[in-house]
Amino acid sequence: MMKLFGGKKDNQENQASGETPKSSLFSRMKQAVSRTRESLSAKIEDLVALTRTVDESTLEGLETALLTSDLGIQTTTAILDALRNRARHQAIVGGDELRSLLKAQIRAILEAPIANKANPLSATDGPRVTFLVGVNGTGKTTSAGKLAAWYSAQNKSVLLCAADTFRAAAIEQLEVWATRSGVQMIKTRQGGDPAAVLYDAASAAKTHHINELIVDTAGRLHTKTGLMDELDKMRRTAAKLIPGAPHEVLLVMDATTGQNGVQQARQFTQSAGVTGIILTKLDGTAKGGIAVAIAEELNLPVLFAGVGEQMADLIEFSPAEFVDSLLE
Ligand code: GDP
Repeated sequence: MMKLFGGKKDNQENQASGETPKSSLFSRMKQAVSRTRESLSAKIEDLVALTRTVDESTLEGLETALLTSDLGIQTTTAILDALRNRARHQAIVGGDELRSLLKAQIRAILEAPIANKANPLSATDGPRVTFLVGVNGTGKTTSAGKLAAWYSAQNKSVLLCAADTFRAAAIEQLEVWATRSGVQMIKTRQGGDPAAVLYDAASAAKTHHINELIVDTAGRLHTKTGLMDELDKMRRTAAKLIPGAPHEVLLVMDATTGQNGVQQARQFTQSAGVTGIILTKLDGTAKGGIAVAIAEELNLPVLFAGVGEQMADLIEFSPAEFVDSLLE
């Protein structure tokens, strides 16, 4: 196994995901949020079709449209307050102006937690340790595999750690992703101690000057004290070997769970020290507005979006592209 360390594999799929031009990323984001866009844009079109100057009833209609797209009450209220404030000072004339003010509002909400982020994604040479946490079925293992391919395509050396030792299937599944993306993986048997496999992985990452160590963890609810303690133990283990680790704790959230997911994320953020979000399954949901609610209500940056089940279906989240995709 060790002979491959240090030599970055240059496979075809990596090339495909890593060299995707910007225009193509934008079209993929557009494709992913198409259901949210269709639902939101259609409602906004209906609202502004009849009025030239945006009045209170238009804003009330907009409120309903935003709530239906899962922006949530707190976020929708913040947006509406800002638009009402603007309308009081200067009339909002026509649909185009309303749309561009709405876009600016949403973009500012999404950008704020990214701008405040303590560790930008490319800050160190590593080993930088990233934990993927969340409840079962959200797409943790899939995202760990895609993230490995994403970093690999950025010419980073990557090591995967299969610390979801509860499910044999998770270890096997991650192994498939590791092979596909041409990165190494450290694993243990099912039922093994996740902190022990992490210790081995962190040691290997140090010895072999790995840039990115990506750790898939078992699915857990924030209410399961034993499992949250286990996560704490993993944090301490990582920090003992690599100063500052884990540098990122990314909560993997399933966009299709909408507002329920936000409540769950709030709890997780407090108990697991979450630093950012991977928002999966953005393809095929009309609840894409959840990205905005996460930024506004949890003050957490959405860093990546999962837009399908293939290896290249993880895109770095850009607020500008998201907003342009959502509201043309
Ligand atoms: P885990 O239990 O959190 O590790 O979840 P898995 O990684 O096993 O993923 C659960 C299911 O969600 C699998 O069928 C994945 O293929 C699927 N999945 C994960 N991410 C995405 C995504 O971005 N889009 C879609 N459509 N499916 C996804």
